[in-house]
Amino acid sequence: MMIVMKDGASEREIQHVIEKLENVGAKAHVSKGKYKTVIGAIGDREKFITLPWEAFPGVEKAVPILKPFKLVSREFRQEDSILDVRGVKIGGNHFTVMAGPCSVETEEQMISTAELVKKEGGSILRGGAFKPRTSPYSFQGLGVEGLKILAKAREETGLPVVTEVMDSRDVEIVAELADIVQIGARNMQNFLLLKEVGMQPKPVLLKRGFSNTIEELLMAAEYVVSSGNPNVIMCERGIRTFEPFTRNTLDLSAVPAVQSLSHLPIVVDPSHATGKSELIEPLCLAALAAGADGILVEVHPNPEEAWCDGPQSIDFNGFAHLMRQIKSLMRALEKELS
Ligand code: PEP
Ligand code: MN
Repeated sequence: MMIVMKDGASEREIQHVIEKLENVGAKAHVSKGKYKTVIGAIGDREKFITLPWEAFPGVEKAVPILKPFKLVSREFRQEDSILDVRGVKIGGNHFTVMAGPCSVETEEQMISTAELVKKEGGSILRGGAFKPRTSPYSFQGLGVEGLKILAKAREETGLPVVTEVMDSRDVEIVAELADIVQIGARNMQNFLLLKEVGMQPKPVLLKRGFSNTIEELLMAAEYVVSSGNPNVIMCERGIRTFEPFTRNTLDLSAVPAVQSLSHLPIVVDPSHATGKSELIEPLCLAALAAGADGILVEVHPNPEEAWCDGPQSIDFNGFAHLMRQIKSLMRALEKELS
């Protein structure tokens, strides 16, 4: 249920509603919009649904949220959520380019990539330190050493960094060293991990599982938000279909669908969706045209030598070309690079 406060309701009136909800054992999630404050009530419905909310000072109305996802829904918040990651805005009219190698390999590889990403207008650096690999014999990532290299690349360039966490035991260290904590496709329904990242303060990049529906993605985001962290960015990264030509099938329709259902931003990852570097640029442009809030792309100084996902990584020239194309399409769409 959500309790919509009147325009200009006072802090005391808002606090009074929160206290009442907490007294009956519910959790109150406050969303302050431009004009209205809305308080989401989560818990045992029966305990608060029948209270005479409209008799409370400052309350305009109390309405049920019909969708299974509540706090992430457009019903709860009509305006787009705009996240701020070290000054980089994500959501609304901003288009955010997140780029970097699949995995952190060396300091030199990470810093040279970070410098390129920054020079061409990207705003977030990616790189995996804990890698979810299909084979236990494949490179598993540098772990904490990789996180430190990422932090060094941020120090050199000022770019905020995003990296994956796979295990609850690593949430603390990843949250300490990274600016955005990524939940990979394979962990989208690892509910304990979702709750764990919901209880730490850094924004979360939540990737859609390759066998998960849009509603399941939104329910996963609801886990994070209802655990206390409102800063979630969703990511469409391709789903499994019968088509073997591409690694997955990019479901671009998820972008406007998620945006109609949720106020949270959604970015597109054509690298993991296709597995093919030559398909990255057209699909990044398609994502921008479809209204995505950004892209996540794998870039490597020498894809031939990449320790992971070389075939789907674009090189520095490819990234520079992509950014030129993005900038010209953005002018037509009146979007801003964040
Ligand atoms: C990644 O972004 O590094 C990754 C492993 O992607 P996904 O979880 O989408 O497969
Ligand atoms: Mn990868």
